[in-house]
Amino acid sequence: MKNAVTNVNSILAPKIIGLDAYEQSALDECLIKVDGTQNKNKLGANALLGVSLAALKATALSEGLPLFRYVGGDKAVRIPVPLMNVLNGGAHADNGLDVQEFMIVPVCGGRFSEALRAGSEIFHHLKKVLSEKKLSTAVGDEGGFAPKLGSNGEALSLLSQAIDKAGYRLGEEVYFALDVAATEFYVDGKYEWEGEKISGEELGSIYESWRKKYPIISIEDGFAEDDWDSWKAYAKKTDRRLQLVGDDLFVTNSRRLARGIEEKAANSILVKVNQIGTFSETKNAVEMAHSAGFHAVMSHRSGETEDVTIADLSVGLGCEQIKTGSLCRSERTAKYNQLLRIEETLGAKVEYWGLQAFAFS
Ligand code: PGA
Ligand code: ZN
Repeated sequence: MKNAVTNVNSILAPKIIGLDAYEQSALDECLIKVDGTQNKNKLGANALLGVSLAALKATALSEGLPLFRYVGGDKAVRIPVPLMNVLNGGAHADNGLDVQEFMIVPVCGGRFSEALRAGSEIFHHLKKVLSEKKLSTAVGDEGGFAPKLGSNGEALSLLSQAIDKAGYRLGEEVYFALDVAATEFYVDGKYEWEGEKISGEELGSIYESWRKKYPIISIEDGFAEDDWDSWKAYAKKTDRRLQLVGDDLFVTNSRRLARGIEEKAANSILVKVNQIGTFSETKNAVEMAHSAGFHAVMSHRSGETEDVTIADLSVGLGCEQIKTGSLCRSERTAKYNQLLRIEETLGAKVEYWGLQAFAFS
């Protein structure tokens, strides 16, 4: 943290003072050049991003426009669908679940605020379901519950019960999404899953068996970041009927995304601004994804602050979905609250992506 601030003040500031803040891409190029590494590991993506976004926000302010509108113009009227991480496992918890994130996806209500209400009600019903079963209701990194369960499949069953108790129809009003983060349990070419070592093909069959029982609408990082063959085989099998999101697979990097598009390894990208490091590169990644018919999912990080910029960027860049955690912990709810404000600001013009966010043309 101190390093990032020092890098901004002593290395970046002298290079950018005097540049035109309205020339965002020239400014971002300058930041990239000063860092000079492929992964921005000299000065750190957090340092570069802070400067890049500060310039973006300053120009929006000087135009008197909300950030989402400055970024997206008059077209920016659609609020993305939240993928809400209400049950945590993997590296975000210490409960032994392999899958990192079990998410609920409210597509109902015709408005973001209604969908948010549904998600919130389900989250609180989930707490009751867990308490009744004497399971822990302590939360993991992204604010989802992190109970010790017997299997990954049990998590989906508990979520179904919570949705039912909250009075929503699973597979109509609410769907499921997963972030498996499979790189985390990929060892020597095998997946260490529930105490066994299995192949990518077997892991894909597990997802298929779940899909027969539950309306899973999206799977992120279903396979490891270097296991391109399993990605491609599963993408072929599901043939754009299922959203396959590359997070670790692409690391918001346009070269890796280009390969994914070319090889048809996935059909969507997770966009982490502090991974890519500048606004211009974020915009390029989303545009590249969209022009290839991919969906873009704007994302928070497991370590977060109350900064809400990604809420504005998600609307401004036309992202179909946003991943910003559970319905508790202020660093997560802050983004939902900003999306509510954007909905309010847009007034009668506002739209909600709803189920359309998952359609492939
Ligand atoms: P992170 O990732 O833990 O690297 O922030 C969150 C995610 O996988 O979506
Ligand atoms: Zn992920």
